[in-house]
Amino acid sequence: MIRFFLIMITYKYNLLKDLQIQLEVLLHWRELKKFNVPVYYPNPWETLKLIFIRPKIDYQCDKDITCYWKSAGTGGSYFPPDEIYVCPREKSYTVEEIVKHEIIHLEHEHEVQGMTHEEKEAYVISKENTW
Ligand SMILES: [Zn+2]
Repeated sequence: MIRFFLIMITYKYNLLKDLQIQLEVLLHWRELKKFNVPVYYPNPWETLKLIFIRPKIDYQCDKDITCYWKSAGTGGSYFPPDEIYVCPREKSYTVEEIVKHEIIHLEHEHEVQGMTHEEKEAYVISKENTW
């Protein structure tokens, strides 16, 4: 018997996950603002827009990852082992650039334990350049 395994990035929108993220953003707003990166405040209009209009992306790689769209928070975030969240309100980077960046975070998470947020970012950016 031949089995085919489809390894790929799945792009999804899940309202419950988006609302969870929005709650986290509200609860941790002050800490998030300390990271010196844009953070988008929860906004029902942005949520509604995302329900109907998903970003266009066809980026793929040979990794089993689920990418959820989110309407608030930082441009990107990641949850090991295989989930990333991307906020299309971030305009300094394309959604594809954010997806790639968050995947590198997932892959190197074990190497950055104990590092500060800034150190993690510097480490991931150094890996981005060798991709
Ligand atoms: Zn990062």
